[in-house]
Amino acid sequence: MNIILLGAPGSGKGTLAKGLVTKLALFHVSTGDIFREELAKKSPLGQEVASYMSSGRLVPDKLVLEVLKNRLAAETRGLMFDGFPRTVEQAEGLDAWFTSRGQNIDAVVFLNVADDVVAKRLGSRRTCSGCKKIYNVISNPPAKEGVCDACGKPLFTREDDKAEVIARRLQVYKDQTEPLLAYYRSSGVFLEADGAQSPEAVEEKVLALLKSRA
Ligand code: ADP
Ligand code: ZN
Repeated sequence: MNIILLGAPGSGKGTLAKGLVTKLALFHVSTGDIFREELAKKSPLGQEVASYMSSGRLVPDKLVLEVLKNRLAAETRGLMFDGFPRTVEQAEGLDAWFTSRGQNIDAVVFLNVADDVVAKRLGSRRTCSGCKKIYNVISNPPAKEGVCDACGKPLFTREDDKAEVIARRLQVYKDQTEPLLAYYRSSGVFLEADGAQSPEAVEEKVLALLKSRA
């Protein structure tokens, strides 16, 4: 099974993906996490994507597609894409790649969340520097301030979760990623869930939607 999660930055794709991949035995593909890892390693790819990421712009389509195809060439598990595709061009590239592998997209899940809600969530998001677990200082704080419940490592505020960059990311989403909704709506595999609910409620809803289609 191959699933794509769609939604604005802060809509809860990462949180949902982390829960679903274990339950559905899928491989989590987060392009954001891949690029952040490369950044941390200061690899040539990391250096190439650094300025796009810190300013809230998209990494060029060609580079994103190349990195993913390399990373996934030998992967045989079903895939859960989180943060990809982000442009119609990336979606077309993914279609072509799946076709060449004799595979297809089984579900596209859109997490629908109002603009003001995602903006608030991003400003209060904290990420674990160890296991990458996602917290929210208002709605989902760790037991001990600044420390991950799961692995004990310190939490940090992502560079692109700072106020100046959040507005740009939301605009980029509207301009470049929202057109994907129309692209996939007509595909017959489009599902939509209200992403404003709690992480548990969203996961339950999405599992039910996937089951009703299986
Ligand atoms: P969020 O969904 O919270 O914005 P991500 O972790 O998915 O965060 O992405 C962070 C940044 O990484 C994006 O703002 C962009 O610069 C880059 N990025 C991630 N995925 C893609 C992609 N598919 N295409 C282009 N750029 C990407
Ligand atoms: Zn952790």
